[in-house]
Amino acid sequence: MANKYVYFFGAGKAEGRAEMKDLLGGKGANLAEMTNLKIPVPPGFTITTEACNIFYRNRGRVPKGITDEVGKNLRRLEKLSRKKFGDRNNPLLVSVRSGSRFSMPGMMDTVLNLGLNDNTVKGLAKKSENERFAFDCYRRFITMFSDVVLGIPKEYFEEILEKRKSEKDIDLDTDLDTDDLLFIVKKFKDLVKKRLKKPFPQAPDRQLKMAIDAVFRSWNNPRAKYYRKSHSIPDNLGTAVNIQLMVFGNMGNDSATGVGFTRNPSTGAKELYGEYLLNAQGEDVVAGIRTPKGLKELKKDMPSVFKELIDITKRLEKHYRDVQDYEFTVENDHLYMLQTRSGKRTATSAVKIAVDMVKEKLISKEAAILRVEPAQIDQLLHPIIDPNASYTVIAKGLPASPGAATGMVVFNADRAVELSTEGKPVILVRKETSPDDIHGMDAAKGILTAKGGMTSHAAVVARQMGKTCVAGCDDIEIDEMTNRFSVQGKTIMEGDFITLNGSMGEVILGEVPLMTPELTGAFGVLMKWADSFRKIGVRANADVPRDAQVARDFGAEGIGLCRTEHMFFAEDRVNIMQKMILAKTVEDRKKYLDMLLPMQKKDFVGLFKAMDGYPVTIRLLDPPLHEFLPKMEDLMVEVTKLELLHADKGLLSEKKSLLARVEELHEFNPMLGLRGCRVGILYPEITRMQVRAIMEAAKKKVKIYPEIMIPLVSMKEEMQAQKEIVVQVAEEVQRKFKTKVKYLVGTMIELPRAAICADKIAEEAEFFSFGTNDLTQTAYGFSRDDAGKFIMEYMNTAEKCVGCGGILEKDLSCPDCKRVYEQRADNILNFDPFQTLDQAGVGDLIKIGVERGRGTRKDLKIGICGEHGGDPASVEFCHLSGFDYVSCSPYRIPIARLSAAQVVIKENMRNRASRKAAGAKGKKRRKSAR
Ligand code: PEP
Ligand code: MG
Repeated sequence: MANKYVYFFGAGKAEGRAEMKDLLGGKGANLAEMTNLKIPVPPGFTITTEACNIFYRNRGRVPKGITDEVGKNLRRLEKLSRKKFGDRNNPLLVSVRSGSRFSMPGMMDTVLNLGLNDNTVKGLAKKSENERFAFDCYRRFITMFSDVVLGIPKEYFEEILEKRKSEKDIDLDTDLDTDDLLFIVKKFKDLVKKRLKKPFPQAPDRQLKMAIDAVFRSWNNPRAKYYRKSHSIPDNLGTAVNIQLMVFGNMGNDSATGVGFTRNPSTGAKELYGEYLLNAQGEDVVAGIRTPKGLKELKKDMPSVFKELIDITKRLEKHYRDVQDYEFTVENDHLYMLQTRSGKRTATSAVKIAVDMVKEKLISKEAAILRVEPAQIDQLLHPIIDPNASYTVIAKGLPASPGAATGMVVFNADRAVELSTEGKPVILVRKETSPDDIHGMDAAKGILTAKGGMTSHAAVVARQMGKTCVAGCDDIEIDEMTNRFSVQGKTIMEGDFITLNGSMGEVILGEVPLMTPELTGAFGVLMKWADSFRKIGVRANADVPRDAQVARDFGAEGIGLCRTEHMFFAEDRVNIMQKMILAKTVEDRKKYLDMLLPMQKKDFVGLFKAMDGYPVTIRLLDPPLHEFLPKMEDLMVEVTKLELLHADKGLLSEKKSLLARVEELHEFNPMLGLRGCRVGILYPEITRMQVRAIMEAAKKKVKIYPEIMIPLVSMKEEMQAQKEIVVQVAEEVQRKFKTKVKYLVGTMIELPRAAICADKIAEEAEFFSFGTNDLTQTAYGFSRDDAGKFIMEYMNTAEKCVGCGGILEKDLSCPDCKRVYEQRADNILNFDPFQTLDQAGVGDLIKIGVERGRGTRKDLKIGICGEHGGDPASVEFCHLSGFDYVSCSPYRIPIARLSAAQVVIKENMRNRASRKAAGAKGKKRRKSAR
């Protein structure tokens, strides 16, 4: 049988189903599902994502077979709708919409009212007995088709429209009369002719073909690509195209268009949530041109439609067992559902909805845990405004995305990126945002828009990104030309500070202190459930008691890494530390170590107290020396200056001898120099002081389980040498203070040789903690301090011409050297290995380390303490590799807890499925044996 590329839906029956998202995209699969559920959906058909991939393989052409299939389905649609495509009396009009496997809101293209031309528009006017309506559709179609298909930006058309409105002194599009629209349509067509040197395409078949191609092409437009990259959506999925009978929300005041959610996507509350516009088409709601009404008012405007909408959406939520985000249109009092999909939501609402749905017996605990995206939890930990702070609210808008943010005002996306790369916090202020602003939104701490409702682009995208957003704040008047906005007689310029309270919709003058919220309620419940599933421990990387306490509050079960050198960054300590490092003799060094000992002890007492009863892994000093030494160049300048000024002899000689020592200690490659266990081996008195501080801190009345960790070991002998000192001092202190402490001595595995020789190292080490920061650095040979520059480039190679480095056009031609490519090259890197564990290379080293280490010592305790410890994919990897725990920064603890539970649940699901498959096979065998 020939491949099928088009799936029809209509009249209560569809060829597709909800499970066919890969092939039909989310929108297409759900339109099919709703049709099968006998929900009123305008009929239509979906061209598959497979066709999109063929389109790309075919260098931008749809093969004839697919075009024929489209033709057949169009005839079917004509028959069902009793209208005819291109008919001058009773024209069939369609919408052409994109829709991939994953929802990518606003990133790809859509064309509405397709099939209109100079003749069919008259037919539509006659049939609807509404000439104004027909020409309103025509002007919309010309704008969208020109923007999406012909490449003429919609702003040119908007300019004509706005000019007419201001000439007539009207504010709203709906106030334009038929003559205005006839005039505007003519102007639009003139514009197209002028820019393209040919008239606006009139043949509906050609319009359809061009629109399908354009939607396929929009899969690879820059904003879609950016979105995919930032949401880890694979590039090879392709988009489906949905071609559907047009229903009209702009037929008068008994028509409307709207969007909604079955629960509040911001808070998770089970309440009416959504908005609509009378006499409008879909894009009007999202574009934020008119301010929509809340759904509550639909009850008054259209009572029977309202009731039907509530019934349908309740059914949808129950059927899908998840919050639905829906779109609808009312045409002459008839309700049509245009879309339903699982609703994007803030972390707060994701957690609340998941927990509520378990209580409502809609889903299981496992499903609830899988529903919450671990990375999203970050949003819950976002700051709020300090309740004790006083501040001045200068404007109020809609509370579009919760949290609070403070920063400098900027008025465009590029500037937001520019300033944020300089490390400045920025608030992006726009009249309204569009997908072209996405990079700026990503860079900003918060987003403020003057127009648009709760489902406007700014609101939807900000919620998804977890950014604070105040939308539709029409109190403010933005002047983008001069980069300022005015409100209440005040003028706020670019660079001025404002604060946004996204939970209340408040815009606040100046900087306001922010606070991290406490996690209670549904969050606590979900975390508890997660803990009941996960098998791997979760610890924190924390160096000071305050962080250790935060970590405990977030559920850490111990400390996996205390970087002791960080304890000496404080102003009153860094000088002593510096002097200790610069000391030339053992006596001198001991003098400074004696000063450091009580400080260390005090820190450890604090850490042990916060972690009472839990293990605390303390890493012995691992100072890359350059972080503690004065800069050699600065000292040289200082000495030269003192010489020229004939300064005080004593001071000069002090600086000179300091310079000489710094020169002595200078390293060309400090990351590979005197750091890690090498420091303790060269200066054993440092190791002694630290172990003494740890063991003496143990006198306090708390249960302590110190795990003393030797850093940057590559040979068993290094481990052995340091362990000997550790054990000697530890035993000595215990004898002296008559204490008994259960301690372990282990090492970090952060060098490839250590992983490979793990069997030998495990003869000495009682635990391993994989230091994946250094392991990544040394496995790749990428400097962790400098690699950012080329890693970004490596992640972008697919965009570039292999020959000359020019940025490739959509058709894969290079504008610089004119080469044309058949297909894109792969990116050299698809992720930053310092953020996400490189499972292929570094991961293999880890697996070798685990296997060989446990080969020697069966009960070897194994953890990870590199930055990857809080990354969901890496947590999964650690679980599957048999780790005992992961350790990450305190604010990532909940993410790690949830990820660790999810991997177990997924594992259980896989096991159940394979047992079921094996059972079915066995049954079949037994049956055939009979
Ligand atoms: C590591 O290398 O992964 C590690 C945790 O240590 P640091 O980042 O301090 O080098
Ligand atoms: Mg390290």
